[in-house]
Amino acid sequence: MVSQNARVAIIGGGMGGLTAAIALTKIAGVQVTVFEQASQLGEVGAGVTVAPNAARVLDRLGVLEGIRSAGAVPDGHGVYQNAMGEIVTDAAWEDSAKNYQNIGMYRPDLINALASNVPAEVVRLGHRLASVETVDAGVRVEFENGVEDVFDAVIGADGIHSVVRQAVGQHPEPVYSGYIVYRGVVDASLLPEDWPMISQVWMGDRRHFMAYPLQQRKLFNFVAGIPSDRPLNGPWSGPAEVSELAAEFAGDQWDPKLQHFIRQIDKTFWWGLFDHDPLTNWSRGAITLLGDAAHTMLPHQGQGVNQAIEDSMALATFLAAADEIADIPEAFRRYTAVRMQRTAILQHGSRRAGAMFDAQYEFADLDKRDADIRVGRDFRRSTVFDYDAQKVAEQALTRFRKVQFA
Ligand SMILES: Cc1cc2nc3c(=O)[nH]c(=O)nc-3n(C[C@H](O)[C@H](O)[C@H](O)COP(=O)(O)OP(=O)(O)OC[C@H]3O[C@@H](n4cnc5c(N)ncnc54)[C@H](O)[C@@H]3O)c2cc1C
Repeated sequence: MVSQNARVAIIGGGMGGLTAAIALTKIAGVQVTVFEQASQLGEVGAGVTVAPNAARVLDRLGVLEGIRSAGAVPDGHGVYQNAMGEIVTDAAWEDSAKNYQNIGMYRPDLINALASNVPAEVVRLGHRLASVETVDAGVRVEFENGVEDVFDAVIGADGIHSVVRQAVGQHPEPVYSGYIVYRGVVDASLLPEDWPMISQVWMGDRRHFMAYPLQQRKLFNFVAGIPSDRPLNGPWSGPAEVSELAAEFAGDQWDPKLQHFIRQIDKTFWWGLFDHDPLTNWSRGAITLLGDAAHTMLPHQGQGVNQAIEDSMALATFLAAADEIADIPEAFRRYTAVRMQRTAILQHGSRRAGAMFDAQYEFADLDKRDADIRVGRDFRRSTVFDYDAQKVAEQALTRFRKVQFA
């Protein structure tokens, strides 16, 4: 195993960076330091689903129970419905072995649960990375506050606007999806007592609305996707009036139950949906990428964070197999080879899922669209939820070793 004295810097203390810190410490046994630009760890006041493929990783890391107890496991499978609330199909919500289910998490709760497993002295707040470069002694990082240091390796978990990505020669253009989402949470006590404790999606007229429980069922998350060119003329997100969101789902062609839900919203904000085409490389020497820095994807499959969690386990597994610090670039190269394929499929699939929900392009024929969504449910369970990131990395290691000794 690579020396316990190996010093690894993780740039970004989001959900990806914190999970990487836990995985690299527990599985690879290296010393990590997390550098976060913000003055405190935090997240936007909205929800995120921890899917079975990530729950499996978090379980192996010994942190799943804390996360599950802060979140909300639904009562059963979710539903895709038309605008009037008639069911199109049920939605996958657990893996085939029924070991892991979706967990609805309030984002600040997930950050807290992850951070409680990372020693406070490991996290350096108020450190905004300015530059990163390979030098003879390792990888040099410099922050806007004047701090600089040299590490044996650097991991860029610094999100969609990643600075580290430039150091691996990648400069992807953000691609705007043509959609914004209104996001936020609703107090569950305001909903009717028989409101289903599952994920529901309403789809109609080039827009969709999703809601699912969070925080021990005390809150409901909502995400409403609307076509808009708003982010093309200014900021990518901002505060919004609830009335503008309500107007998008007004009228007698929308389910009155959904309109009742929307009336309980007291606060919302809008968010432009951007991704980028798959990168052509993630690693250069002892520098690599993880999470949105490596593979920003649209949220329509709910896999952005879940892929960052898979990345963390794969990276830790390859790093654990490195004998010494000089082997880290090869560990990163192997990690890249395995993870780029998986995440490129999901980046593409997330664009396609958005087009399905909003009946665009080849999905304009609703009967065919509905059939595709039904088929997609099984793909999602077997290909996305059943994926075991640790096992895949271990199998790949065996194959890499065979090539090495051939
Ligand atoms: C509406 C919506 C719904 C979503 N729902 C889901 C879902 O249900 N499931 C799911 O898996 N994913 C979902 N996602 C995607 C998910 O939010 C992202 O994939 C995830 O937040 C990426 O995590 P990350 O840690 O890689 O990056 P980020 O969360 O962007 O974290 C990056 C961190 O790096 C810090 N940073 C940035 N630049 C620097 C710098 N120069 N120096 C130091 N620090 C820096 C930032 O402050 C931040 O803390 C959704 C996204 C949206 C928009």
